Amino acid sequence: MLDLVLINGEAKGIIARNLTNGKIERFGAHAVVLASGGYGNTYFLSTNAMNSNGSAAWQCYKKGAFFANPCFAQIHPTCIPIHGDQQSKLTLMSESLRNDGRIWVPKKLEEAKKLQEGKIKGSQIPEEDRDYYLERRYPAFGNLVPRDVASRAAKERCDAGYGVNNTGKAVFLDFKDAIKRLGKEVVDARYGNLFDMYKEITDVDPHEEPMMIYPAIHYTMGGLWVDYNLMTTIPGLYAIGEANFSDHGGNRLGASALMQGLADGYFILPYTIGDYLASKFKEPKTDTNAPEFEAAEKAVQEKIDKLMSIKGKKTVDAFHKELGHIMWEYVGMARNKAGLEKAIELIQELKKNFWSNVYVAGETGVFNQELEKALRVADFLEIGELMARDALNRNESCGGHFREEMQTEEGETKRDDVNYMYVAAWEYKGADKQPELHKEPLKFEFAHVATRNYKD
Ligand SMILES: Cc1cc2nc3c(=O)[nH]c(=O)nc-3n(C[C@H](O)[C@H](O)[C@H](O)COP(=O)(O)OP(=O)(O)OC[C@H]3O[C@@H](n4cnc5c(N)ncnc54)[C@H](O)[C@@H]3O)c2cc1C
Repeated sequence: MLDLVLINGEAKGIIARNLTNGKIERFGAHAVVLASGGYGNTYFLSTNAMNSNGSAAWQCYKKGAFFANPCFAQIHPTCIPIHGDQQSKLTLMSESLRNDGRIWVPKKLEEAKKLQEGKIKGSQIPEEDRDYYLERRYPAFGNLVPRDVASRAAKERCDAGYGVNNTGKAVFLDFKDAIKRLGKEVVDARYGNLFDMYKEITDVDPHEEPMMIYPAIHYTMGGLWVDYNLMTTIPGLYAIGEANFSDHGGNRLGASALMQGLADGYFILPYTIGDYLASKFKEPKTDTNAPEFEAAEKAVQEKIDKLMSIKGKKTVDAFHKELGHIMWEYVGMARNKAGLEKAIELIQELKKNFWSNVYVAGETGVFNQELEKALRVADFLEIGELMARDALNRNESCGGHFREEMQTEEGETKRDDVNYMYVAAWEYKGADKQPELHKEPLKFEFAHVATRNYKD
């Protein structure tokens, strides 16, 4: 899907590019349901499938649907670490491993250095020299603290120099004690498939040596703003699953994302969309020859032609990777005002450069994955900027958004419930114009809002 078609302000169809033959196609309907997933691949590297993208939601945003809480991105603590600059995908090791695996780094910097240089292995470090930092910092929850807490704690140790792989950006997840306590058979019954997967990818056997893990982008809690009927601010446009912002708010910590996709799609939308459709079914079928379809298709074709005509010197992937570096550095696990301002500037520069220097190989009206990527990266550049803008606005630490200025002396998150207890819903105001922020206050009538505590 490359664009949404509005007729009299209502969603009436989409313009799509057929991925197999490159043809631009029109689809008309009485309503449009978007189920296009999250925008985690803005960071280039993530646990998402390579084809995941934010383009469909982004086009709807540009047609008037509000985009809510874009800065809330979940970082999963249990991924196989990045091994170099030629990588295009990150692999998630299951959360379940933290049930029995213990997370640690060396206590001594000199031992971390030896690990980084490949001079020793994790198993050679004696018990008394291991820092089980989650158990130390969060005695009540230990290795089972939520994802954001575990991720930040890993970053803190690695930033302090205690990382255990060649890049210094990894911590150990160790099953030595679990094997001793439960036996290899029980551990294999629980995690055997994951051990196999880890060994296939890294050539290290987790029975013998601790696994290495590091946090990675995994899930985006932000998305198109929807009401209780799952309708966006555009009449007749619905968004479900990870594409919308609902349910998880800033926190995708305990609830199931997949369940949200299912609940939205199976249990909620079938009941709520009928209300809208009831009045629409009296209307004739949407005519895809209408001038609105004509105009939307023309705009899509012009965008494609523009991309193909640039014939610059840099590949689409090179731009995407550069965006990913900016996002991870300044809009990643820890954010601050200066960094976010810099990110916005850098992304704007990169976007300008993209539109004057990108090289898209191949032809237009045929199967062309480079063109597919180019269209998506053009959108990722804009999504990244909105994420940074939203993070800059939210001067508090909350769920999947950690502002360095807002932390306790012990490095824990500090919320600001007085000033930020709202959903930030952004309205597109035009190219090169600042989007407008709308605030939807959060009212808690039954739940008592409290600061999270995993220490005691
Ligand atoms: C490795 C991994 C492990 C996970 N583990 C868990 C877990 O254990 N528990 C849990 O609750 N959640 C988990 N999640 C998250 C969960 O899987 C996702 O949030 C959920 O699948 C999202 O469902 P969805 O239907 O909204 O979107 P998706 O499943 O992402 O589907 C989106 C679909 O839209 C299509 N699409 C995208 N853009 C366009 C476009 N422009 N035009 C047309 N089609 C488009 C895509 O091709 C795709 O088919 C995991 C995610 C990953 C990546």
